[in-house]
Amino acid sequence: MASGNQQFVKEIADINKNFPQWYTDVVIKTQLVDYGPVKGTMVIRPYGYAIWENIQRELDMRIKATGHENAYFPMFIPYSYLLKEAEHVEGFAPEVALVTHIGDEELPEKLVVRPTSETIIGNMYSKWIQSWRDLPVMINQWANVVRWEKTTRPFLRTSEFLWQEGHTVHAIEEEAEDEALKMLEVYKEFAENVLAIPVIVGRKSEKEKFAGAKTTYTMEAMMLDGKSLQSGTTHNLAQNFAKAFDIQFLDKDGVLKYPFQTSWGVSTRLIGALIMAHGDERGLVLPPAVAPKQVIIIPIAAFKGGVNEKAKELKASLRARGIRAEIDDRDQSPGWKFNEWEMKGVPARIEVGPRDIESGSCVFVRRDTHEKKTFDFDGIAQAVEEELEDIQRNMLEKSRGFRDAHILVCDTLAELKKAVDSGNFVKAMWCGSTECEAVIKQETAASLRCMPFEQEVVGTRCVCCGKPLKGDEGITAYFAKAY
Ligand SMILES: [Zn+2]
Repeated sequence: MASGNQQFVKEIADINKNFPQWYTDVVIKTQLVDYGPVKGTMVIRPYGYAIWENIQRELDMRIKATGHENAYFPMFIPYSYLLKEAEHVEGFAPEVALVTHIGDEELPEKLVVRPTSETIIGNMYSKWIQSWRDLPVMINQWANVVRWEKTTRPFLRTSEFLWQEGHTVHAIEEEAEDEALKMLEVYKEFAENVLAIPVIVGRKSEKEKFAGAKTTYTMEAMMLDGKSLQSGTTHNLAQNFAKAFDIQFLDKDGVLKYPFQTSWGVSTRLIGALIMAHGDERGLVLPPAVAPKQVIIIPIAAFKGGVNEKAKELKASLRARGIRAEIDDRDQSPGWKFNEWEMKGVPARIEVGPRDIESGSCVFVRRDTHEKKTFDFDGIAQAVEEELEDIQRNMLEKSRGFRDAHILVCDTLAELKKAVDSGNFVKAMWCGSTECEAVIKQETAASLRCMPFEQEVVGTRCVCCGKPLKGDEGITAYFAKAY
């Protein structure tokens, strides 16, 4: 079995030596995705799609529990819509795919394949909203979007990806602001409790905010290479799109007013986050809450009487408790199967052989810690359930420990550069000038990830220009290289 292990590990690059290659090897070899024939597109294979379905189910439940309903809007948007909001068109025009012809015939107006849906939804809302009685509007859409990116990587940046986008409308600005903050909190809870990824939440700078938003909030997750993955954003759009699309409502006081909007989204990027926050030298490590298979049962010496029957019995008892259990009865050696399922990140495996049946117990192995335990068949479903809960908890704690150990406070640009180059996030004081933000990006390749809600004074000078900052003059911000 040891030789099997070594052989298998050879198939994926060393996570400590070549993280980008490790990522590529893992996503392809575990059959999460494959490359589509058109450059920059990805095919999400059943194993990857099952993770997405689990993400969708967990998040959809939370989106509905906070008062939203799902709807679906067309993917084709008249080009003129994109032009209506100045910042929005500037932000998205370079990467939109356009439909110009139907067959041989040129269209009188080009169509945009949606890069995001603020414009088409804004257009529809202008028809649906007339009175204060029509507010708030709380709609979410699960959809695909297209953004033609120059450099692409599966899940992280692809020409087409899947996501959800919430679009709400409110009578007063405070409500829109509260909504943007509330959904960020929903995302954070989801990231931590379902994906087992601790996130840093805060506000984006003017430079990094969404094209067309007044304020963008973000959750940033640290990957194992110390880079940040922007994992979800919420936007207070203020009245920008309401004015561009002439959404107006007659308020209680008889005055015609523009309402306030939000939008918010997370995407299949989250699968990239799972891979890069939890993986190890053997491949994927999936948190039980989203793992397509939570327990894999591997028969040992399956040709011997009673082994397959026992495996089936075990699977049934685990399934009866709501555990996603499967048997791998393919014609391969147990060692080969151990390696395969470890690479695929299945949270736990159970080995069932003739000796186990005799002793009335079996071997249980955790993917997160590689710990081996022996469980009696009696009451095994409950024991496994508790282990899965512990794996989920342990993965979050491990990620939190890793993250906290890789956040450094810096006082100078040189320190900042050294820290991000060696795989850390930097917490530092910033004078708030766009120039300093740009210099930092240019000199260190790190961008301003967010300004955390909990502002704490971590220095007395701007990390870039050195300007002294007294009292609440400075802004505490996180800087990191990012995906
Ligand atoms: Zn400065």
